[in-house]
Amino acid sequence: MAHLDCGHIANHWVWHALSCLPDKIRAELDEKLAFVCMAESDARRLTPQFVGGRHVIVLSERIVPLEQSDEGSPEVRYLYFGVLHEVAHAFRQHRPPSEISQEENEHQEAEADELAFEWFNGSLQAKANPMLPPFTRKELAKAKATAMTRAVPPRPQAI
Ligand SMILES: [Zn+2]
Repeated sequence: MAHLDCGHIANHWVWHALSCLPDKIRAELDEKLAFVCMAESDARRLTPQFVGGRHVIVLSERIVPLEQSDEGSPEVRYLYFGVLHEVAHAFRQHRPPSEISQEENEHQEAEADELAFEWFNGSLQAKANPMLPPFTRKELAKAKATAMTRAVPPRPQAI
C-alpha cells in the first residue's frame, strides 16, 4: 500500500483517489508511492524508511477538501484528478522538467492529464452514479482557478 502522510482528511481522500486506478496499475505502483501534505502540521521529517526509493508526491494543503465534503464535490474531484495526474507521471517515469526542454515538458504534462482523465473517468463510469458525471477539462480549469485563490483553512495542528 502507498505510504500516506497527509493528515487524516487528506489520507482518506488520497486513498479513495488511488482506488480510481485500474487494478493492474495500482498493483504495479502502490508500493512505489508516498504522499505528503502539510495540511495538519507545520513541519515534517521524511524518514529514509518513508521515502525508500518511492515517488514522493507532495499535495498542497490548498487542495485538501473540507471535512464535510463528499465524493461529488468539486474539491474532492480536483484532489482525485491531482493525485491521478501525479501518479501518471510516476507510471510513465517522466523526467524532471529541469532535465528536458519546455516542449518535452508540455508533452509530459499533456500525457499525465490524458491518463488522469482516462483513469478518473473510467472509475466514474464503472460507478454508474448519475450524481458523479465525467470529469471534464472545463471542470479542471475551474477547479485550478478556484484552488489558486483559496486560502488555506485553519486546521488542528500537530508537529
Ligand atoms: Zn504534471
